[in-house]
Parts: sequence; C-alpha cells; structure tokens
Amino acid sequence: MLTVVKFGGSSLADAGRIQNAARRIAALFEAGHQVVAVVSAQGDTTDDMIEKAAQIHTDPPKREMDAYLAAGEQMSAALMAMALHKMGLPAISLTGMQAGLMTDGVHSDARVLGLRNDRVRQELDKGNIVVVAGFQGVDGAGDITTLGRGGSDTTAVALAAFLQAAVCKIYTDVDGVYDRDPRKFPDAVKLPWIGYDEMLQLARQGAQVLHDRCVELAQMYNVPVQVLSSFRPGEGTFITALPEDFPQI
Ligand code: ADP
Ligand code: ASP
Ligand code: MG
Repeated sequence: MLTVVKFGGSSLADAGRIQNAARRIAALFEAGHQVVAVVSAQGDTTDDMIEKAAQIHTDPPKREMDAYLAAGEQMSAALMAMALHKMGLPAISLTGMQAGLMTDGVHSDARVLGLRNDRVRQELDKGNIVVVAGFQGVDGAGDITTLGRGGSDTTAVALAAFLQAAVCKIYTDVDGVYDRDPRKFPDAVKLPWIGYDEMLQLARQGAQVLHDRCVELAQMYNVPVQVLSSFRPGEGTFITALPEDFPQI
C-alpha cells in the first residue's frame, strides 16, 4: 500500500525534528507501506530567503525567486534522505522537477497539472522511500515553479492523487483541524472528521493548516487526507467526502 506523508517547516526545524519525522516515516515503511515523503523548507527558511532576496532586489523577477525559494525544500529533502540512510533505510531525495511534477507557468503561484514521468514509481518499485521536495514543480518551458506559500500540502495531495496512494498524511504542529485557529482561540474545538466542502471553506477563509488548492485536489481525486501532529500521538482529523470513507489501515 502506498502512503504519502508530508512534514511542514516547524516539524523539520532542526536536526532532532528531522530525525523525529524520519522515525515516523520508518514506522510506516517497516509496517510494509511504500512511502513518499514530501518535505517543506526547515523552520523559517522561506521567510529568511525572501528577506535575503529583498536585500538584492526589492522586486525580483518571479522566475528567479522561484529558482531560489525551491532550494529551501530541496535542502530539507536531501537532509531527510540522509536521516533515513543513517537509520539503515533505503531512501532517495528528488526535487519537484526530478519527480516530474508538471505545473502551469505562473511563477510564485503555479497550478499542478500532472506527472510527466514515472520516476517516483520507479524508485518505489526499487524499494526506496522517496523524499520529494515540496512547494515546487516544473513548467512546460522546463523552468522551476513554486505553488504559492504553504504549497507543500498541495505537492503531497497531488502526488497521492497521481500515484493513487491509499492516503495522504499531513504531519504538522497542531494535532488536527479545529473549527478555528487553535493558536488564536484557546476554546477552538478539534474536529475528528471534516468533509472536503467544509475544509475547503476553512482553507479559503485563511485557515493555514491546509493550502486551499490541496483541498481542491483532494476533493477532485477523492484522496483521503489525515491531518495530525508530528510531535504528539493521536489520529488527528480525517478529511474525506463522507466519514465512513476513510480507509481502515
Ligand atoms: P506546516 O508548517 O506544518 O505546514 P502551518 O503553519 O502551515 O504548518 O499550519 C499549521 C498552523 O495552522 C497551526 O499552527 C495553526 O496555528 C494554524 N491554523 C489556522 N487555522 C487552523 C484550524 N482551523 N485548525 C488547525 N490549525 C489552524
Ligand atoms: N516553504 C514554503 C512556505 O513557507 C512552502 C510550505 O511550507 O508549504 O510557504
Ligand atoms: Mg503549511
């Protein structure tokens, strides 16, 4: 069974957290899953890079900004593959371009169109855990694009859709989806399940926990999504069309 997992920036902020995420990947792999792991840039890397670019150019060409920012996720992917190797596990990191994630040419806000090669599948078939740099793809001209802030969620669901994964697990710094941002509203209520429509509404209202295009894709391709904590045990929140649709795995 193929499982796609995704770890956000705070879940990868330092070496210890990368190792913690690697242990979660290892547990799935050792339980017999094929695993694609999508990673974000570490911690505040993307914000720091944006600031650094601004010191060079206050309005940099979007093509160059994409080429630059995509490197944040690429560094995480290679570090994650190293952490898995250190645990004795077979792993390979791929950039979005190597993974063949095709997008349109709208730099800084590209839309995912499909997979243009079967590299990820080939690596899975060789027995590898495939670590894919999130947030990025390649356009028809062969240039690096990025998917908009928070876009690694979309990479994960897109890969789950195109590779027909059983489930997409989004590991983050909260233990599920709440009715409101739990960091701003201490009385927010955690939802054990939420439908695609309601989740899309939350995401479009700005709930950062999932990128809105990731929810659109999940609904379009009927990908079961689970949002859960990288740090604490628990099932988190299941996102499907109907509550009973989540596979028992
Ligand atoms: P990651 O780095 O893992 O992608 P994000 O920072 O993008 O994580 O998203 C997680 C954050 O989303 C949480 O820390 C939380 O403050 C915020 N958030 C906003 N609205 C919600 C909500 N309705 N439910 C859960 N988290 C929410
Ligand atoms: N690193 C990118 C961002 O900070 C993408 C992501 O984290 O999903 O927006
Ligand atoms: Mg995010």
